[in-house]
Amino acid sequence: MIEIADGVFVRRHTELDLTLGLITGSGDSLLVDSGMDPGLAAVLAGEGLRPSRIVLTHNHFDHVLATEAFLPCEVWAHEDCVVDESLLAGRAEYYDEPFTGTLVAPTHTFRDSVALDVGGRRVDLHHFGPAHTSHDVVVHVPDAGVVFAGDLVEQGAPAQAGPDATPANWRHVLDLLLELDPRIVVPGHGNPVDAAFVRAMAIPEAS
Ligand SMILES: [Zn+2]
Repeated sequence: MIEIADGVFVRRHTELDLTLGLITGSGDSLLVDSGMDPGLAAVLAGEGLRPSRIVLTHNHFDHVLATEAFLPCEVWAHEDCVVDESLLAGRAEYYDEPFTGTLVAPTHTFRDSVALDVGGRRVDLHHFGPAHTSHDVVVHVPDAGVVFAGDLVEQGAPAQAGPDATPANWRHVLDLLLELDPRIVVPGHGNPVDAAFVRAMAIPEAS
């Protein structure tokens, strides 16, 4: 875990260059995406961290498969975020062996935005419209100037637009993200970037 701002951490994974986030408050923490590594739950527990909430930025397999390892906790997502076996088709493109865990659906959903209290610290969840998926969630930590962008932003590789993407709305969504005036933007894959990177990034074509 790398601390990028006071009490705000990222965890970088070599697999798919995935980036997860952890936001800590007083006696509480929130995980941004559960990722694919069930072992992370034990690693965090060893440091006294048991996130009471996971926020899923979207339903792509690499962001949601390890949720089970963190239970019991609240699982937050946009109301259109469906976690079911259909997402395993995406995983099958990368891995031969079958997924043997249990998929965990969101327990708490929102439509436009919701403010959460993480141990006395405010964390805002926003949905700015369809782009990478129909239900992308942006996680904003106002007191740290940090935004977790999910796969709306990628560093080190181009952003990806699959069949479930809406490239025509992507720039608009990024403009709304930039209105949060972030100091640091954490992508779903790659290293943290700044607002200038997001402003300059190329929007992927529809596939
Ligand atoms: Zn994705």
